[in-house]
Amino acid sequence: MILKGVGIGRGVAVGPVLRMAEPLPEPKDEPRDASITAEAENERVTAALNAVNADLNKRAEEAANGDDGQKQAAEILQAVAMFAADPSLAANIKAKVDAGATGERAVLDGFGQVEDMFRAIGGYQGERAADLHDVGQRVIANLMGLPAPGVPESDEPFVLVAKDLSPADTTALDLKKTLAIVTSEGGPTSHTAILCRARGIVAVVSAAEAIDLKDGEQVIVNAAKGEVVTEPTAEQVEEAHEAKAKADKAKELRGQPGQLADGTRIPLLANVGKPSDAKVAHEYGAEGVGLFRTEFLFIGNEQPPSVEEQTKAYAELLSQFPGKKVVIRLLDAGADKPLPFLTPEDEPNPALGLRGLRTLAQHKEVLEGQLKALADADAQTDADLWVMAPMVADEWEAEYFTKLGKSFGLKFVGSMAEVPSIAVMADKVAQVTDFVSIGTNDLTQYTLAADRTLGSVSNYQTAWHPAVLRVIKMICDAGREHGMPVGVCGEAAADPDLAVVLAGLGVNSLSMTPVALDDVRAELASHTMEEARELAAKALDGDFYKPPFWTED
Ligand code: PEP
Ligand code: MG
Repeated sequence: MILKGVGIGRGVAVGPVLRMAEPLPEPKDEPRDASITAEAENERVTAALNAVNADLNKRAEEAANGDDGQKQAAEILQAVAMFAADPSLAANIKAKVDAGATGERAVLDGFGQVEDMFRAIGGYQGERAADLHDVGQRVIANLMGLPAPGVPESDEPFVLVAKDLSPADTTALDLKKTLAIVTSEGGPTSHTAILCRARGIVAVVSAAEAIDLKDGEQVIVNAAKGEVVTEPTAEQVEEAHEAKAKADKAKELRGQPGQLADGTRIPLLANVGKPSDAKVAHEYGAEGVGLFRTEFLFIGNEQPPSVEEQTKAYAELLSQFPGKKVVIRLLDAGADKPLPFLTPEDEPNPALGLRGLRTLAQHKEVLEGQLKALADADAQTDADLWVMAPMVADEWEAEYFTKLGKSFGLKFVGSMAEVPSIAVMADKVAQVTDFVSIGTNDLTQYTLAADRTLGSVSNYQTAWHPAVLRVIKMICDAGREHGMPVGVCGEAAADPDLAVVLAGLGVNSLSMTPVALDDVRAELASHTMEEARELAAKALDGDFYKPPFWTED
């Protein structure tokens, strides 16, 4: 059986399950024994709060002397420790004790009220509710004279399975024994996820069905696929061991530039969705940014952000890449990314409707506002800024956008290749635009006429299809002839084997989700350009393409 969740990183691990200890029994909602005074009970609670605060601070100090990941955990632990020393929370608990509650129940309810408040706020704050709950549980355990809930002891390496982990649990983990972590709750921004990323722990979070895993059960945790395989076959286990060995080796090349075995450079860049993603891009050794999707500034708003707001966000990203290439894409509103104030509601076929540059051309104020903000941000920073438009159909649109961008003072202005028509006209396009970046997600959707959002046609969503590769080749050939750089920034670039084929077709740079960089870098390094070209020739012939099952006999 395969349990689905959200993978953190690309690691793979195999091992037996060890479940986190069961939670503490819930303190009864009954009045305190009349013989125990409020004063005595309050003293007990204060002592427990102090003990937990001291214990968490001690762990924070220990973590501060550890590796980088533990240092990050130290800051989180210090912040969490403060919950146990919060005067208003303590006053609320005291009021409950004064009204007759037991210390245990008063702590549960006092912390619970703040947890509910955090959850109601949602987002990052919402995920802190779990941290708060953990502190409350530690205080209750102290009052009950029970050990604090936490990571179980084991002599053998294990895959830790929990609802979610508290920061204290994560720092206490013995990394030599912890093969992987699986949680049934907690999203990609939970502390478990943040700390697993920081400490390089293989993890799959938010796998709801993991709640049913049993102690000792053998599982494969595949973070790259975001899945947990239960009762794996011997073959699956062997494959997982191989994938693990490969992933470990790939990590060793981190920090080196992307290149083929013969030294041909293929810069490896990161796809990012907001300025703060730059940190992860750096962490995985990205040489710059190959696609910054600017939609995050617009989605969820009722009107476009001001030029000043945009300038601030673009400058925030650019300032993190001095001297490095950063490709920023203009807003791609429409189809799978509709915006209420720009996208018509009545399109019967949105993928073939107003989107990308077509939308921007109808809303000049948005288009020009973005270009102005980009030029202003460029003037304030030292990155090598490249700007491109989504969904450019032909040389007229390419020329229109390139000229317009330059009139704002932008130096390098290009076009995304997502519609096959731009490839058919590539020889013309290459003469009027500074660069082309191929968006294989949309290029595949439009080449094969298969909606990328529809599960029923998802087997067409592969850039391994020789028709897609031939379309890409047309763009690469034109780029080579006219000295125009061609990059790929769609998901295809993140497939290590396909990355080699793309290099063989003549793609000059590849941009992908940062976690994919290690594997792509390692695969490129193991092939010469000659080999890459041979593989590309085979791929163009369809040798590596698996047609849908119903075309087989
Ligand atoms: C693409 O289409 O490949 C691409 C990179 O753009 P998006 O996925 O944002 O449409
Ligand atoms: Mg696209």
